Amino acid sequence: MERRGFFKMAAAAGFAGATAQSGAQVLPSPQPPVIERSNLNQPGRGKVFALITPHLDDGPIFAGGTVAKLLNEGYTGYFIRVSNDEKDSYNLTLGETVLANEKDAARFVEVAGLKKRYDLQYRNHGLDDISRMEIRVRLIFLFRLLKVDTILSYDPWGHYEENPDHYVTAQAVEAACWMSADHLDFPEQFEVGVKPHSVSEKYYFARGPQLVNRVVDIAPTIKQKAAYIASCKTMIGNMVRSENDSLAARGLRVPAFAGNSDAAIDAYIQAAFVERDKQIGAKYGLEYAEEFHYIGPDHSLDEYVKAHAERI
Ligand SMILES: [Zn+2]
Repeated sequence: MERRGFFKMAAAAGFAGATAQSGAQVLPSPQPPVIERSNLNQPGRGKVFALITPHLDDGPIFAGGTVAKLLNEGYTGYFIRVSNDEKDSYNLTLGETVLANEKDAARFVEVAGLKKRYDLQYRNHGLDDISRMEIRVRLIFLFRLLKVDTILSYDPWGHYEENPDHYVTAQAVEAACWMSADHLDFPEQFEVGVKPHSVSEKYYFARGPQLVNRVVDIAPTIKQKAAYIASCKTMIGNMVRSENDSLAARGLRVPAFAGNSDAAIDAYIQAAFVERDKQIGAKYGLEYAEEFHYIGPDHSLDEYVKAHAERI
């Protein structure tokens, strides 16, 4: 995600600076969202999640606190980066930008304690020119290979998303989650030892309005989240320096954002992202929070099975 895009969507969502109006991002929901809090009983032990985003900074910015929570609760985590992030730097060439963001992606995986990263390497800002089927098949193979239980990604039903990389990734992820369980979808994959495997939990985040039914309390993980965002140094550095240029054009400067130092990046993360999560949390009586459309396992037959099932 680029700086211009973040602030444009942030303003539309009502959490940018003095114009902040909490509640603007959430579509009317029939029931209040479930508040998910940290669980010290390690419910994620033995489970696997995949964070799937076109760009390196999408996950840390919109779901970093939840990623940290799941890892703290015992999950094994993977990061699938769909694009090559060739368009997001301040003054590097395209080739230098690919390499800088690749190194940052490795840093994010290390800082977060994720098990591995898979780069699909499609060209940044061009995913709408790629076959969704091709992306879907690659994801289905990875879901089967890694036995992914839970995914975090962009909401395929989020509104007013202007970046094709975001909505194409979201659509491919959503379809792959259930088709990976079908024995007639790409059966040749089974010959290398993988089996049909469905993804049972989805955490969808969005830049614009979405139907929010899950709010994750990220107060215990906000510092981990800030460190994840800081690992995206090239992208956040681009945001800081572009913001400085924008301020200078208006005859202004924010001393804390001056230069391209780690301190400037940290100050920016606090002002732009930690403050946003604080405003989201305030809507739900929490210190810091992230919002999602959550889709969980299907329990519709549980009662019937309980009443009628026999031991075999
Ligand atoms: Zn993005």
